[in-house]
Amino acid sequence: KIKVPLRIKIFMWFVHKQVILTKDNLIKRRWVGSSRCCFCDHDETIQHLFLECPLAKLLWRTIHIAFNINPPVDIESLFGTWLT
Ligand SMILES: [Zn+2]
Repeated sequence: KIKVPLRIKIFMWFVHKQVILTKDNLIKRRWVGSSRCCFCDHDETIQHLFLECPLAKLLWRTIHIAFNINPPVDIESLFGTWLT
């Protein structure tokens, strides 16, 4: 049994929600054509979705203010730091 701090739970919820949004976006596009971010018009990659998208940046700022968590510099640090 792993004890997960509340802020990690909130963060994981956020990640989960992003994954759902990504999937919804893909389903809407019927898995064909170039995949574009559903929040801006950039190519949708994990890197973009979590770090580069204006929405992600806004959310990180919110998380930073609310939980005093620094935004990750890259995907590796995002999952490395958070999941260990
Ligand atoms: Zn975007």
